[in-house]
Amino acid sequence: MAGLKYSRQREAVKNYLMSTKEHPTADMVYNKIREEYPNISLGTVYRNLSLLVELGEVVKVPSMDGCDHFDGDTSAHYHFICTECGRISDIDTNLEEELSRINREVNRGFDGYINGSAIHFYGHCQDCMAKSKIS
Ligand SMILES: [Zn+2]
Ligand SMILES: [Zn+2]
Repeated sequence: MAGLKYSRQREAVKNYLMSTKEHPTADMVYNKIREEYPNISLGTVYRNLSLLVELGEVVKVPSMDGCDHFDGDTSAHYHFICTECGRISDIDTNLEEELSRINREVNRGFDGYINGSAIHFYGHCQDCMAKSKIS
């Protein structure tokens, strides 16, 4: 995307996402960026986020709470989503081989072309596990 105007705000959004493991929503990003850029609007944050996703510099993580979450880590990795509190965290796996095999297998029976897949793991996070033990 040549000729794209350099934007300090977009840079700030990207830097924040790369510095956190929280997989924040647009609202959370907005609240964070506002500390540095008090005049920024939620709309600007949304626009920058979708631009960064388009550029492949940020990944959009669909969630169960109906909000998109954003991830500055664009390497292939998988997510755990807590069905209690909605927290999204990274999972360490070595499933890349298996998943590319699954993609090839699925492509065989598909008329179009598939070049990726998204797998999420669901359950209860550590915090929610601890809470349910107390109550
Ligand atoms: Zn949880
Ligand atoms: Zn992630």
